[in-house]
Amino acid sequence: MIYLDNAATTKIEEPAFNAMLPFLKEEYGNASAVYELARRSKKAIFEARKNAASLIGAMPSEIFFTSGGTESDNWALCGAYETFRKKNTESSGHIITTAIEHHAILHTAQYLESLGVSVTYLKPDHEGLITAAQVTEAIRPDTFLVSVMTANNEIGTIEPVCEIADAVRGIRKDILIHTDAVQAFGQINLQGIAKHADLLSASSHKLGGPKGVGILFIRDGIKFSPFMRGGMQESGRRAGTENVAGIAGFGEACKLAFAGIDSKISAEILLRDRLIAKLSDITDVIINGPYNAGDYLKRLPGNVSVCIKGIEGESALIMLDREGICASAGSACATGAMEPSHVLKAIGRSDDEAKGSLRFTLSHHNTMEEIDKAAGIIAEIVEKLRNGKNF
Ligand code: PLP
Repeated sequence: MIYLDNAATTKIEEPAFNAMLPFLKEEYGNASAVYELARRSKKAIFEARKNAASLIGAMPSEIFFTSGGTESDNWALCGAYETFRKKNTESSGHIITTAIEHHAILHTAQYLESLGVSVTYLKPDHEGLITAAQVTEAIRPDTFLVSVMTANNEIGTIEPVCEIADAVRGIRKDILIHTDAVQAFGQINLQGIAKHADLLSASSHKLGGPKGVGILFIRDGIKFSPFMRGGMQESGRRAGTENVAGIAGFGEACKLAFAGIDSKISAEILLRDRLIAKLSDITDVIINGPYNAGDYLKRLPGNVSVCIKGIEGESALIMLDREGICASAGSACATGAMEPSHVLKAIGRSDDEAKGSLRFTLSHHNTMEEIDKAAGIIAEIVEKLRNGKNF
């Protein structure tokens, strides 16, 4: 098998898996209790909090564990809304976000619209970029939240989030800045981001940790409504007995990512650029996202997104699967729905072009041999599909 779908999820790293095991068996203490058994669970949670914080240059007290990226995104938007409504009973307020966010943001924004909130969905340029000027121009007196993703899950575009945050602050200090960093956390250097954003979402299973655990970073000192009400876990902001094994595995994955981020980025860029070069040799292939000389830092190191004319991405996926290659057409969450991806549409792809999209997301565990083999198989499959054969 050649696994090229790391934006959908990653294989758990061995040390992360091993870090979980004690908490699934003998270390079963509830972290809220007072005895030694419980204190060991509490300590594991504390260590994980420190490791997650280190990836974004935050303090451990600013990290709140959740059940994953989707929950963190829901909390960010709904929490900002509730916080705003506590002070503003007259107005439902206004949010600025982008047309290329993950559905965890878009569907939550639509839910808030149903409660009366106005939402501006900024349109990106042809490479998926949003500018700080677009955001500041959209600010209204009732704007209470800006949410722009750190990196796009389909086309890999890295947004200028710190610049956007600074520009917004230059105009208004009371607007909360959230970023969905699910695809960027542990994949690119986010050291300074906690100094710019107020809220940041991340997910464990995208960086070699287990599924079902994530974080919301909440900058110290900001007023922000809790999401889950109940006990006093996570400083009373996200109640519920902690998923200690998941958190311990996530913490270990963060530690590994922190130590190895530079070599991981360089390895992925080499693999990515080789695959892009090979796919560009196929006729009528469009590379989605930034890919001009000098633009390589605007794209996630492991992302290759293409639209291939004259094929259906879904048929190509089935044929790739038969050859042992795991990839995706558009975003994994959209697989199964034949609707063209909202991200590809937003950057100007036609319906036909978008239907021929394939996404390959690499990891530093892939090898050049795998990339070369996959590129050869992709070229053969494209030829078969263009000749009307899908077997
Ligand atoms: N945000 C982005 C950008 C994502 O890519 C994903 C998952 O693919 C999510 C949010 C949801 O994260 P989770 O799977 O942890 O719920």
